[in-house]
Formats: sequence, C-alpha cells, structure tokens
Amino acid sequence: MTGGDPRAGDAPGPTAGTKRHYVRRCTIRILIAGGGCAGMATALHLQRGLRERLRRGEVEITVVEPQAYLTYHPLLAEVAAGSIDPRHAVVPLRRALPDCRVLTARITRIEHASRRAWADAAAPGEPAAPVELPYDVLVVAPGSVSRTAPVPGLAEYGLGFSTVGEAVGLRNHVLEQLDLASATRDPALRQSALTFVFVGAGYAGVGALAELEDMARYAVRGYHNVAPEDLRWVLVEATDRILAEESPELAAHTLGQLRERGVDVRLGTTLESAAGQVVALSDGSRFGARTLVWTAGVRPSPLLRDTDLPLDTLGRVRCLPTLQAVGPDGRALPGAWAAGDCAAVPDPHADGAPCAPNAQHAFAQAELLARNIAVALDGGPHAAGLADYRPVQAVCSTSLGLRRAVAHTRRGGRLTGRRAWWLHRARHLRRLPSADRRVRVLMDWLLGGLFSREVVSLGTLEHPRSEFEAGFGRRPDPGPDAPA
Ligand SMILES: Cc1cc2nc3c(=O)[nH]c(=O)nc-3n(C[C@H](O)[C@H](O)[C@H](O)COP(=O)(O)OP(=O)(O)OC[C@H]3O[C@@H](n4cnc5c(N)ncnc54)[C@H](O)[C@@H]3O)c2cc1C
Repeated sequence: MTGGDPRAGDAPGPTAGTKRHYVRRCTIRILIAGGGCAGMATALHLQRGLRERLRRGEVEITVVEPQAYLTYHPLLAEVAAGSIDPRHAVVPLRRALPDCRVLTARITRIEHASRRAWADAAAPGEPAAPVELPYDVLVVAPGSVSRTAPVPGLAEYGLGFSTVGEAVGLRNHVLEQLDLASATRDPALRQSALTFVFVGAGYAGVGALAELEDMARYAVRGYHNVAPEDLRWVLVEATDRILAEESPELAAHTLGQLRERGVDVRLGTTLESAAGQVVALSDGSRFGARTLVWTAGVRPSPLLRDTDLPLDTLGRVRCLPTLQAVGPDGRALPGAWAAGDCAAVPDPHADGAPCAPNAQHAFAQAELLARNIAVALDGGPHAAGLADYRPVQAVCSTSLGLRRAVAHTRRGGRLTGRRAWWLHRARHLRRLPSADRRVRVLMDWLLGGLFSREVVSLGTLEHPRSEFEAGFGRRPDPGPDAPA
C-alpha cells in the first residue's frame, strides 16, 4: 500500500476550504465516506487499534459526513415522545474522533480506479466547492435514504422520520393537532387533526407510532374536550407483516400488541393518495388526516451510483464476507471496503442472503472492518488472517411506549411489558458509541421515571424569527400545515 507520491516528499492530502493539510510521504490515507453507525464505529475502532501508527503519522483517517454528528436512529422514537433530549441521541464526531480528521461535507463521487473521491464542502450561502480527496483505503458507509413514491399529495403533506429534526418536528406537530382539535368547532377538521397515519411498518414506522400514541394518550389527559378514544392511529403496510427487519415471531407479537391498543393496522395495503390531506388507501377507504408520516422503507444511498464500485441489483456495494468490495474477478477489490445499510454482506444466518439493514449489523460489521483493515495494512488485500463476518444470532426488541416493549432474549425466550422495556433500553445504552451520551441518555430516563411525562409543544422553535418579524408587521408563512 502506498501513500502520496514517493518521489515528491510531502504530498497534499485532503483540503478543506482554504486550509491545506499536508501528509507525510508514505502515510496511508484511509477515507471513510459517512459518519453514521458503520462509518463512525469503524473510525472509532481504527482510532483505537492504530493509535501508535496514527501518532507516528503513518496512517491518517478522514471521515466525511454532511452532519457534524452521528444520529443514533433507534432512539429517535423516544426523542419524538420527549423521553430523551434530542441532543443526546446524536454523537458529535469531532469530540468522539480526536485522532481523525472530520470533514463536514458530502461525498459526490468516488473513482476507486484512481483512488480519488470528491466532496462538496461549503459554508452557508457560499457556492459548493468540490474538494478532491485522494486515498489509499476506502470505507464506504453512507447508509440508506428513505424510499419515496410518486403518491399524489405525499410531497406536500408527508412527514419523514429519519433525522433528529424530523423527530422533534413530528412531536410538535402531533401536540399541535391536539390543541387544534380542542379549539376548533369544525367536526371534520377535528377528526382530521386527531387522525395519525403512518405508512411503512418497519423500525421507524412502528417505533414512532407506538411512542407517539403513548405520548398523545397521556397528553390528552390535560384536555377537557379530547379523550383517548377520539385519537385514531392507522399503520399502513404494503406487505403481509410488520417489522421485516425482525424475526417473524417478534413481529407477530408486536402486531398483536399494537392491535390490542386500538391501532388500526392495515396489512397488504398501500397509500394511493394524500391530496388535500385526504388519505386514500388501496383497500378503498378514504378519510381526512392532517398527519401522514412516511416511513416506507429505505434504499441504498444514491452516492453509490456515482462510484465505480460493483453494486448488486438493489444498488448496494457487493461485498465478500470479509467486508471487502468484490472485484470484477470475484476476488477482493484492493483497498475498497463497505459496511452498514449500503453494503450487501452475506448473512450466514440467512443462507448467505445480504444482511438486513439494521444498527446491530452496522456496528458489528464496523468492528470487524476495522480489525480486517489493520490486518490488510500489514499483509495486503489477500492477507491471511482476514476474518469473515459471522454475527451472533440477532437479538431483537422494539419499544412500544413508556414501560412497554417486546424483546427476544439470547436464549430464545420472549419478553413483553416492563422487563422487555428494560432489556430494550439496556441494549441500546450499550450500543450507543459514546460513554458521554450513554450517561446523558440514562439520566434522561431516570428523570423521566421521577417526573411525569413532558408534553409541552415547542413548535415555535422551528420559526425562531416569527415573533421578531411580527414586530415589523410581517405575517409569518403559515406553511402547508396550517388549517385551510
Ligand atoms: C427511525 C429509525 C429507527 C430505527 N430503529 C432501529 C432499531 O430499533 N434497531 C436497529 O437495529 N436499527 C434501527 N434502524 C436502522 C439503523 O438505524 C440503520 O440500519 C443504521 O443506522 C445503519 O447504519 P449505517 O452506518 O449504514 O447508516 P447511517 O447510520 O444512516 O449512517 C450513514 C451516514 O452517511 C452519511 N452520508 C450519506 N450520504 C453521504 C455522502 N454522500 N457523503 C458522506 N456521508 C454521507 C449520512 O449523513 C449518515 O450520517 C432505524 C432506522 C431509522 C431511520
């Protein structure tokens, strides 16, 4: 493995804005595309495993990520429910990775044949300036993006649920609907405000619906004219089961729990239209709903299409069990590795079918990936000692609100209620890749146990200038959310 130009003494490394970093000759440049679960965890393990070489300047790790933090998605539903402070569900990359370079930018193209990538880094208001990033070792981990569909009205009225901003926005939106239903004298508007539709019953849809239903049920205690029975929660799923990422038994059990709570789960059903905030489903039903959350699955990051890496039919990087990208000859493509949602890594527990896109695989793959890269740095891409990805059998759990969850134990047992909830929380606490965040989340949970639920809506946070602008006689833009 070579780094820089051996004839040229010091060779320029990644540049950010006007600042130039210079890399010593023979420094091995590791570029990690994406600072999410897989990317950040890979960087963390490499930082620990290669500490001495990093210090001596023999290795340099650059993490390129558009956000300055990792978002721990499994906690977003609890952020929406107000059980966790939004800042505690993210891990700041620069603080967690002091020995790595963190570039807040989006990679736009990768040309592995010439070992170069390009990223767009720009200060707000400035035109994006492409930055060339030469590398020796590439780790591809840009994850996946929400899979949208050309459904009428979806772009105008649909809400996503994959970022901290969306989780906080959805919480405020749901609480505002309760205020609206309580204030209006229009029965159709009231019904529409109290109808919450979630499309897609994966982790995101089930978790968000269950937590918000629980929160809203609690919140209506404070309203004299809204009762829990007035709330209508609809979960729409195109396939014949929920939680495709989990075991069928846990999914069936979760379905039973949701239906027991009065959630209207429609399997084998699709959303046909949301035009005018009227939801039309493929089973022929039509009803007004001011809340439509779109969580209908994910597809691999579109970045992968702008690379010369080998992709499978779904657009994921084809990987060997060692997490190396597969070359045209079926052998490892030297210097290219992938992990997480964007990688098609054979799962030995599923007869070699690619691993499901979940955080457990992303973290476990990252750990192995870092170890294999360290081995390959010494022995080359076909080095003996590269290990195959052999995950322990997945242990699944899903939170269904405060003190409610379903979980599988390592021994194959099934838990529900409080015990499952504690187990679920303990697992996520252990997986959170930051001791600081683990303590903060634990404190949030402990405080939540001492005091009653927090159900205040801070929707004004989304328009912080509106009061000030009103002082100048300007009316704030009501947005598509405002009642007609
Ligand atoms: C709401 C929600 C709830 C979930 N709940 C669970 C759960 O309970 N249990 C579970 O196991 N899994 C859960 N998942 C799935 C889990 O979060 C993902 O499988 C996991 O995050 C995948 O890790 P990753 O590193 O591949 O992707 P991510 O963690 O998404 O990280 C990818 C990163 O790459 C960055 N990126 C994207 N494009 C570029 C680019 N062009 N250049 C540079 N960087 C880029 C992104 O900004 C992102 O930070 C949930 C997902 C969601 C959305």
